[in-house]
Amino acid sequence: MSTSTTYSSILIKKLDEIENAISRNSYETAVLLNQDGSILFEKKGNNKSVRFSVSDKKAMHGNVLTHNHPFQIELEDYGYKNTSIFSSIDLLLAYQQKPKEIRMVVGDIRHSFQWTTASKHDARDILTKYEALEVAFKVANNKVEKRLNDGKYKTVEDYYGAYCTIREKYTDRICGFLEDNSCIGYIFKREA
Ligand SMILES: [Zn+2]
Repeated sequence: MSTSTTYSSILIKKLDEIENAISRNSYETAVLLNQDGSILFEKKGNNKSVRFSVSDKKAMHGNVLTHNHPFQIELEDYGYKNTSIFSSIDLLLAYQQKPKEIRMVVGDIRHSFQWTTASKHDARDILTKYEALEVAFKVANNKVEKRLNDGKYKTVEDYYGAYCTIREKYTDRICGFLEDNSCIGYIFKREA
């Protein structure tokens, strides 16, 4: 269960504004907010990640962290949806720093989760399994990249088709894994 229903209207409005503003950026941005909706920090990263200092990480405890994963405009140009999943680093960060909630957006997709204290499961076990899924995803993705480099795709559309098929399959599988684990309050939704 997301805690967002218990948030102040100011915080909900602020999260909405920030997430709409960053959801289609090609680079990552992470914003930390407190319960009052005040911004504690805003960090811009590159097309892969955002770096946090030790004090940034400490500030996360009990607050709400949101960020985007890079949006690839060219996918949309070819009629495909941008999909993304939490990285295992996101999960580990949430586990270690205990923000109230960690949120991630890409295009019109919104993800949220929090580690709950009512866990029947071992968080480290979940993290290990999640990492294994992530590795499987990367292996599948690398095969597509290799085929691209070997000139196996006749058209760019063929490549994006294969690329998006892999991403959607693993997005479903990995989000399903999170949803199935009751120790995690995990929410996945498409806006609009
Ligand atoms: Zn992330």
